[in-house]
Amino acid sequence: MENKSHNMASQIPALPQSYAPGPDSVFSDQSGFYSLDSNVPGLSRVILNKLNMKDYSEYRAAVEGKAKGISFRNYKEMFQKMEETFKFCTCCNKLPEHLTEGQTLKRCIKCLNVYYCTKDCQRKDWPQHKKVCKTLRLVAIDRLVEWLMFTGDLPFPTEKWSKTASEVKSWDDWLPMQEDLTSRLEAILSGSNTTTLWKNASRPRPDDTDLRQSLWRIQSEFLSRVLTVGMAIQHFGLDPYAKPLTIHLAGASHNETMGARLTDYDELNHMFPAHQGIEIVMVGPEVVDGPIVRPPLRAFGPKKMVYISAYKGLYHQFWEDVVEKEEAAKPDLVVGFHPGFHANQGLVEGWLPTLLLLRDFNIPSFFTVFSELELKYSLQILLELEMHIRDSGPNPFISQKPEQVQACPNKPPVYCNSHYICFQGLLQ
Ligand SMILES: [Zn+2]
Ligand SMILES: [Zn+2]
Repeated sequence: MENKSHNMASQIPALPQSYAPGPDSVFSDQSGFYSLDSNVPGLSRVILNKLNMKDYSEYRAAVEGKAKGISFRNYKEMFQKMEETFKFCTCCNKLPEHLTEGQTLKRCIKCLNVYYCTKDCQRKDWPQHKKVCKTLRLVAIDRLVEWLMFTGDLPFPTEKWSKTASEVKSWDDWLPMQEDLTSRLEAILSGSNTTTLWKNASRPRPDDTDLRQSLWRIQSEFLSRVLTVGMAIQHFGLDPYAKPLTIHLAGASHNETMGARLTDYDELNHMFPAHQGIEIVMVGPEVVDGPIVRPPLRAFGPKKMVYISAYKGLYHQFWEDVVEKEEAAKPDLVVGFHPGFHANQGLVEGWLPTLLLLRDFNIPSFFTVFSELELKYSLQILLELEMHIRDSGPNPFISQKPEQVQACPNKPPVYCNSHYICFQGLLQ
């Protein structure tokens, strides 16, 4: 019975290479990249030109570190080109090449984030922009400070937990366990990479209070994923002290896996000290090559350690090619960060075999979304599939870093892992 419906599901074609995405995507992944164009025609072209690339696949290869691709002469040029991908008039969507001679795009001096072609456009846009200008100021700082994730300055090390996992219910419980957070942030701020960053960025260095907060926001986005996995373990009453756990991250994105390190989920060692071994397998078509791309465990891994591996491909294919051949353990839990299947038909079709598989194999599943509205649409889809929804709501470990919709800067920013859905098996 289980196998039959699973096989039926695998007849549905995989995520198509191109389809018309919605305009709301936050990240420049396969759907988000082209969706930039639905609001600002030509924007994805501009990005490619700035980065000296001919198409999306070259862009992808370059960000995956595989191609000659992005080659900047120096950091100044790198930061400049990155900033230029945000340059268009927020009011009339004019790109730099559409300006008349002598005209230049001027940045909003309050947020240093959005651009206007004329004073007129800025005036016209202010009623909308003023609602998000303050938050976009933070976003503009974060998109530069984020570079410190690639230099290795972030994430900063964290402390052993003085409370049990069940006592730590939100950031407010987690933060007091980190005694000297300021000294760790100071060390980054006085480091050579921070100096290089602000020497080369095309804007003045913000003050240290702003920078400390930005460092924390970026760290919180990173930790949000780990703590959400820990929360999911507890939601399903899984006991990492009783037996080793295998956790699959379905639809692991470009964002999660680029520059990922083998230690990325070590906060789980603080959360469940002396656990029996936790295995994290990241699976997704956008998985970026790196040290984490290695085979999953066949037998149980080492105790007190988190073992990360990754597989590039759709989750249901991974299941057929690896799990069913017993080359990987069946998961105790599947977590998906922002699967985004509510956004359009193409993504629903791409996710459908995976969703049916999770349902028919009765696998504890825990997905996150960017907003309350996404939560509503996602719940509708899961209910149509007769999923048994156990719980849903705001995530107490929501990322603190606002995410801007690049092509629609005045849309209210969203936050990673803002809400969660916890589901398992078929609705009775
Ligand atoms: Zn304009
Ligand atoms: Zn502004």
